[in-house]
Amino acid sequence: MDLRGKKILVVGLARTGAAAVRFLAERGAKVRVSEVKKAEELKAPLEALRGFPVEWELGGHTVPFFLGAELIVVSPGVPLSLPQLEKARGKGIPVISEIELAFRFLRRPAVAITGTNGKTTTTTMIGAMLKTWGKKAFVGGNIGNPLIDFVAGPQEEAWAVIELSSYQLEGIQKFRPAVSVLLNITEDHLDRYPSFQAYGAAKGRIFENQGKEDFAVLNADDPLTFQFAHRIQPQIFLFSRERSVPVGCFLDRGAILFQGTDGARERFSLERLKIRGTHNLENLMASIAAAKTCGCPREPLQRVIEEFEGLEHRLEWVRDLEGVKFFNDSKGTNVGSVVKSLMSFEEPVLLIAGGRDKEGDYGPLKDLIAGKVKGMALIGEARDRMFAALGNLTETVKLHSLEAAVEWAWSRARPGDVVILSPACSSFDMFTNYQERGKRFKEIVGGLKRKPADRPAMEGRPN
Ligand code: ADP
Repeated sequence: MDLRGKKILVVGLARTGAAAVRFLAERGAKVRVSEVKKAEELKAPLEALRGFPVEWELGGHTVPFFLGAELIVVSPGVPLSLPQLEKARGKGIPVISEIELAFRFLRRPAVAITGTNGKTTTTTMIGAMLKTWGKKAFVGGNIGNPLIDFVAGPQEEAWAVIELSSYQLEGIQKFRPAVSVLLNITEDHLDRYPSFQAYGAAKGRIFENQGKEDFAVLNADDPLTFQFAHRIQPQIFLFSRERSVPVGCFLDRGAILFQGTDGARERFSLERLKIRGTHNLENLMASIAAAKTCGCPREPLQRVIEEFEGLEHRLEWVRDLEGVKFFNDSKGTNVGSVVKSLMSFEEPVLLIAGGRDKEGDYGPLKDLIAGKVKGMALIGEARDRMFAALGNLTETVKLHSLEAAVEWAWSRARPGDVVILSPACSSFDMFTNYQERGKRFKEIVGGLKRKPADRPAMEGRPN
């Protein structure tokens, strides 16, 4: 792809957009940038791009600015349904994601991971497996490390392990991973997609350009994911918690079994597994299958099983206080992930949920709330709609802040209970992002005091 002298518009100027601008400008493209935020809000990227000959449109997008481009590169957070992009497409201007641009320059095989939930965990685990094996791997994409930065460098790593969102996949043309992983498809982002089908179809594009020499890892337990098995070109590796599969990973008496294309089996003990929850078994099986398609031997995989501690804000243990365990699952931003989080506990749960509503169906939470949740505090913009859908299943309160919700949960908690923040919503109504929400939760929990009423009883206890 020759970039010299080409008029290229980059839409969106967060970290990835800025990296794309630098990449394009350094290769002689005539770059322009359109971004809804104003200059005052863009200090860091503007500073990073000082001195580059860029034409700017800040504080909003306009059609003429878009129509002046020969190619449009879209940053990960920008919806491809933007009217200005529709207009440009209508005029025959190609619109691609940063992933597609980077792919044109990628000289290493890509292992690409998508799905509604578990992407970051799985991407991180696959990276850890390849590195524990002694290989160099780039780990990036939606996880925060733009692929365009990797292709700008010497590409010394043997693999590029990339997390992909549905937005990024919508903007591909030729992107072809050597290994694709589709973890699951459940409702999310219905506020941004015309329908659930459209969202699922975007995820399925990960297989679009794969050929018979490539591999695909698919969840056999998730019907929407499994349906792709009949329609795609690459060699298929399945994973399942519920049944054995001909090629791929499944559970067998406290272990994961991997069965290769030649029928040979490897056994991975789960006795010293650190991460919690059945969903993490799915992520682990997907990771093992993907690492196996790269040729990874058994031993490094077993080591990662025993050493991987999980990621911050994903069912992260925070504190034990008077026999009550607190978990931060701030990244539980959709109904499917909260279902899995609740399934991870045998103990009675006090659930803190709510935030910005994604306009999906809260119905899949009903049985789990009725069965496991002894009390629920709802906060944020979604609390009324959540209360209407779920408020009659257990003691439920609507509160004004995260602080109030934690206090309430703590007042209701008894030894042996767990308190989880697992919102089923995004954080943007009250926080900058899910990380800030999770950190605030941890601070509040860290500051909780023992219950005064319990003190005499504790002190009176024999040694
Ligand atoms: P993503 O990058 O897709 O958002 P993460 O690995 O960051 O996924 O996990 C996000 C949340 O989704 C976690 O809080 C966890 O509770 C839940 N989760 C993780 N893996 C899965 C899975 N395989 N299926 C369903 N939910 C999951």
